[in-house]
Amino acid sequence: MKDNFFEEYNSILTSCERPSRYIGGEFLSANKDFKNSKVKIALTFPDKYEIGISNFGHKILYHIVNSVPDYMADRAYAPDKDFLDLLKENAKLLYGLESKEPLKNFDFLGFALQYEMSYTTILKMLEASDIKIYSKERKEDEPILLAGGPCAYNPMPISDFIDLFIIGDGEEVTLELMKIQEENSNLSREERIKKMSELEGVFCPRYPKHTRKRIFQLDKKSHPTKSPISHFTSVHDRATIEIRRGCARLCRFCQSAHTNLPVRERNKEDIINLACEYVKNTGYDEYSLLSLSSNDHTNIEEIIERLNKHFLGSGINVSLPSQRADKFSLKLANLMQAEKKSTITIAPEAGSQRMRDVINKNLSEEQIVNAVVSCVESGWDKIKFYFIIGLPFEKDEDVLAIAELIKTINKKCREMNLKVPKITCSIAVFVPKPHTPFAWHGQNTLEEIERKISLLLSKKPEIKNAKLNFHTPKVSQLEAFLTRGSEKLCDFIYELYKNGSYLDSWEENIDFEMYHKAAEKFNLDIEELATKTYDTDKTAHWEIIDCGVNKSWLINEYKKAQLAATTIPCETKCSNCGVCPNFKVHKVLDN
Ligand code: SF4
Repeated sequence: MKDNFFEEYNSILTSCERPSRYIGGEFLSANKDFKNSKVKIALTFPDKYEIGISNFGHKILYHIVNSVPDYMADRAYAPDKDFLDLLKENAKLLYGLESKEPLKNFDFLGFALQYEMSYTTILKMLEASDIKIYSKERKEDEPILLAGGPCAYNPMPISDFIDLFIIGDGEEVTLELMKIQEENSNLSREERIKKMSELEGVFCPRYPKHTRKRIFQLDKKSHPTKSPISHFTSVHDRATIEIRRGCARLCRFCQSAHTNLPVRERNKEDIINLACEYVKNTGYDEYSLLSLSSNDHTNIEEIIERLNKHFLGSGINVSLPSQRADKFSLKLANLMQAEKKSTITIAPEAGSQRMRDVINKNLSEEQIVNAVVSCVESGWDKIKFYFIIGLPFEKDEDVLAIAELIKTINKKCREMNLKVPKITCSIAVFVPKPHTPFAWHGQNTLEEIERKISLLLSKKPEIKNAKLNFHTPKVSQLEAFLTRGSEKLCDFIYELYKNGSYLDSWEENIDFEMYHKAAEKFNLDIEELATKTYDTDKTAHWEIIDCGVNKSWLINEYKKAQLAATTIPCETKCSNCGVCPNFKVHKVLDN
């Protein structure tokens, strides 16, 4: 770290809100020596510090890179607007939090692509680093820009800005890229990029090729057992242990389920050891067992029982992201919240049975009602539900069925002389995601969504115990437009950035008018593109990326959805999606 950093940045740090976001030096930071490291990457997160520092993907890569003696991983997050302005006013560049070196001095920047609304933030971070925005304009001494994460499954809307996209799991490929950098100092930047683009799981827009994702078999040594701890509260202040990657449920709207196949399960001994080590190293009083559906893990009850025993009397608690209602286990719920019964979260996603079959939720009303009643009987009085409206083939009665489901729960509780629980419904708007059976299906228009919201709200007086929180339809429309967008969106995104769009993942920052004006300039119609239903026979621009699931299987699932026909989860019976033969793996479920 630069010796005189605090002196040099004193006036900026004392003038900004929350300087602790920008000073680094967090407990458990790796703080590697910049000058003596042979290859350096700054893991860059296009959102605020408190969001980025919690990102588990970045924690994994930070751990893996810093485990190699000669390699260094530093971190950088999107500064808030005040700090960004102060940097500019004082002619300072955005820097790595640990080394305090300008980002432009690193060999690589590695952007996490978690959500589409962060695209313009990436461009602003480049500007603040004095790095050329368009990749074709970058000079020999500028870093190579990497990007990976869920949005990389359609890299087209930002393909003019990123040098190399990492598709799928980044554990091995990040080190392979760094090795090419280390061993090829005789090559020009462009020659190195070309060489790197040939790696499996790497997509380079300048040398486009059909790119199949990388998959990584979970092992113990690649999992962190410590990570930098924020100076102040972050979104997830806890130790995170990834217990499973992928989800075999194959809900038809879910991109993570389809792009993260096959399911890989971490073995129970590793999970227990990792949780104990992580908590011991960090001092956290909570640990989370992370997975797309944690209670699907084969040994979940035994794992929590053993960890509860280990942490008995220490005040250290476990959390699971959400419970599957069909696999709901009261024993598990009690194990998780042995002392304080807070909120139980369940995701029915749709109110009617027909709609749950359309989306392949494989969940009956009886299972949902029984799960809630069991919770209430055991002392929980707060339930959180996740729903989606605007789903393909949805009818008005499916929307109204959300209220009917709550009424059925209330009736059952009254019949059993139980307290009616407080229910909070988080209701999202369907966004068609690439590489899912619903990728082709157009979103409802804003008018239609607003009508459906009013329809459901008309039932509110009948479900007084329920709070209905709707996601903002206009934001979901922008997400649909961006997530299926082609390379034509690059100039549109550049225009937004030039007009001041920044940190738009925070809804209060979005200037909707600015989006529509920029779209008009490039002859793009946001609503038309978001609501358009694509022809499945045509090749969509994201198909250059291959997540291993066969297109014919996706189309068949789309057709089955129209008939409300379900597909059994692949743990019970393989439905031949293609992933296992394409990756030559045999339904990997344990290591
Ligand atoms: S090929 Fe079969 S077992 Fe393998 S991921 Fe697809 S559905 Fe599951």
